[in-house]
Amino acid sequence: MLYLVATPIGNLKDITLRALEVLKTADLIACEDTRHTGRLLERYEIKKPLVSFHDHSGSGRVQELAAKLEQGTVIALVSDAGTPLLSDPGFPLVREALRRGIRVESLPGPSACLAALLVSGLPANQFSFFGFLAPKSSQRKKNFTQVREREDTLVYYESPFRVLKFLEEALEVLGDREAAVARELTKKFEEVARGRLSQLVEKFKRQTPRGEFVIVIAGFEQKSVLS
Ligand code: SAM
Repeated sequence: MLYLVATPIGNLKDITLRALEVLKTADLIACEDTRHTGRLLERYEIKKPLVSFHDHSGSGRVQELAAKLEQGTVIALVSDAGTPLLSDPGFPLVREALRRGIRVESLPGPSACLAALLVSGLPANQFSFFGFLAPKSSQRKKNFTQVREREDTLVYYESPFRVLKFLEEALEVLGDREAAVARELTKKFEEVARGRLSQLVEKFKRQTPRGEFVIVIAGFEQKSVLS
C-alpha cells in the first residue's frame, strides 16, 4: 500500500487525524528532506524509518520503493510541505506502483494552491494550476500568451526572487487584471495582497518579496469582484 499524505504548509497543526494515524502505522516514510520531516514527526512523537525521496533520486529509488511495496511494505509518501506530487516529487512512484497493481490512497490536506485560491477573492470553482513556470522570461511570457483568453482563474507558484518580474510580465501580456499575491500562508507573517496587477507591481517595487508565494490571477474578462 502506498499512501500519499498531505502535510502542513507552515502551521504544524494543519495535519489531519488520518494523516497522523497513517504516519504512525506505516512501515516506512518516504520524504524529500529527512531532517524537515523529522521535525514534523518529532512534534507528534512519531518514530519511523525515513528514506529520502526527491526528484533527483532517479528511477533506481522508484524501483527500490516499488519493490518494497510489492513485498507488502506500507509506505507513506510526504513532501516538505503540502500535498505530494503538486510541484513536488512522487509522480513516477505513483505510476510505477499502479503499474505493479499496488493500491494507492491519497490523504487530502493542505496545499498552498488551494489555500491561496480560496482567500484570493477570485472565483474558485474553475481554475488552472501551473505550479512554477520556467525561470526564463520568454517561457513565462509564452505561458501568459497561451492562457490569455482562458476564463478560469490562474494559479502559479513563484520564488520570492521572481515575484516582481512575474507580475510585471503578467501585466504586460494579460493586461491589468485583478490578482492576489498570497505570502507565507498559515505562518506568522501570512499576508494576502489583492488588487489589479499594476497595483501589485507597485507594492512589490516598494516592498522586497520575502517568504513563499502563490500568485492568483483572474481569468479573461472575469467579472470584477474586488471593486
Ligand atoms: N506540494 C506543495 C503544495 O501542495 O502546495 C507545494 C510545494 S512547492 C515545492 C513549494 C511552493 O509552494 C513555494 O515555493 C510556494 O510557491 C508554495 N508554498 C508552499 N507553502 C506556502 C505557504 N505557506 N504560503 C505561500 N506559498 C506556499
